[in-house]
Amino acid sequence: MKLVLALTLVLALTRTGFAAGPSWKAGLAKIPITPANSLWMAGFGARTNVSRGTLQELYAKALALEDQDGQRSVLVTTDLVGFSGPLANTIAERVSKQHGLSRERLILNSSHTHSGPQMSDRLVFWSDWRMSPDQVRDIEAYTRWMEDKVVAVIGTALSNLQPARLSFGRTAARFAVNRRLKTEKGYFASFVPNPAGPVDHDVPVLRIDSDGGALRGVVFGYACHATALLPDNYRFCGDYPGFAQAWLEQQHAGAVAFFVQGCGGDIMVSPRGTIELAQKYGELLAAAVDQSIRGATRPLQGALRCSFDLVPVAFAAPPNRAELEARAQGKDTDSARHAREFLRASADELQRHAQELLKILDRGGHLPVEYPYPLQVWQFGQDLTFIALAGEPVVDYALRLKKELGADTLWVAGYCNDVFAYIPSLRVLREGGYEGGGAIVGARLPGPFAPSVEETIIKKVHEVVGRVRVR
Ligand SMILES: [Zn+2]
Repeated sequence: MKLVLALTLVLALTRTGFAAGPSWKAGLAKIPITPANSLWMAGFGARTNVSRGTLQELYAKALALEDQDGQRSVLVTTDLVGFSGPLANTIAERVSKQHGLSRERLILNSSHTHSGPQMSDRLVFWSDWRMSPDQVRDIEAYTRWMEDKVVAVIGTALSNLQPARLSFGRTAARFAVNRRLKTEKGYFASFVPNPAGPVDHDVPVLRIDSDGGALRGVVFGYACHATALLPDNYRFCGDYPGFAQAWLEQQHAGAVAFFVQGCGGDIMVSPRGTIELAQKYGELLAAAVDQSIRGATRPLQGALRCSFDLVPVAFAAPPNRAELEARAQGKDTDSARHAREFLRASADELQRHAQELLKILDRGGHLPVEYPYPLQVWQFGQDLTFIALAGEPVVDYALRLKKELGADTLWVAGYCNDVFAYIPSLRVLREGGYEGGGAIVGARLPGPFAPSVEETIIKKVHEVVGRVRVR
């Protein structure tokens, strides 16, 4: 009799939602953001002209969540190369005014597809010198149009909140490979597969179900450059993340699939260069996600606690004015020669970089000594810590944070909020090469970063995680 009573009580608690009822509300929305006309494409400096058509629709997607305390948060994912800081700030301000969403409750991630449109407000000036004034104006117009779409899709998701269950799982996909290889001459070549180099094959998966248990959406992450398609592709496409999302949405009619890029700064697919390969990697990733959501996932309960912060990350001392002037005139000084060899930057790139930095000085400005680096943490109850890093962090950041904060409950995203430069670890900075500092000469920033870059960011992540983790 006592047993029956106890069982009845357990059942009653379960039914009223104490143990397993939905403590969340979720709203999901997607909107096409494919440019209507030809536009300069983002990601590869080697392109020589604007796009010619569309291979696959590009989307901005929003997942709005309301936790048990009625607090609302929105994750945005996009088939874009990355939001600039100013663009992300503008979107965050508009969303704050329209929906009262505070900055820490909005994450803006991009898949880093290199087959998407170029956007304005960027620090990278690669290929800018090849664009006509009309082409630059088209990019400006597209950016404002796309900004409206992102704000709109956030509004749609927020207006669409319905009781939901969230659960978290992890799977793996093995195709990503490290792309930095030490050559016999001692320098690090990039874009060369290095099967012995570090990678992060984890695929974190957030499952969103209706109150009745039907799949409404899935958010999944992977740390790997979306460069299965190369500069010879002039058609808009989401690359492998685009194909992965499309595959999942086909398999699960009515559900929305969201791809979140991870710490894939120094990671790529290999071989690459064809549509078939991009599709194949997309399907491999989607199949892993699909298997995970058909298996056991851990229910997420409790509040969603959020924090956002800016940490100043220091640059190494830039060349002085005389050195910049010499480089701007194309002179091969000792320091330029060292930069060419150690960073693997070309003479042309160093010359243009020096010219851009001189423009800043000539306008009476100062070269920045540090960069305000945004980082953000979402803590789902006790079972998931979602870290949103900015820029293009190399894989060392994810591997180290998982070791220090516990791999089972951690999701480390890169390419969030402000995609402005590669973020090398101390190891990669010391090794040099493209991700170590060579790429930053393509941006209006002094570079490379100071050796303190990794410790500064990791220390701040620990601090922000400490603010939101339930003790
Ligand atoms: Zn990149």
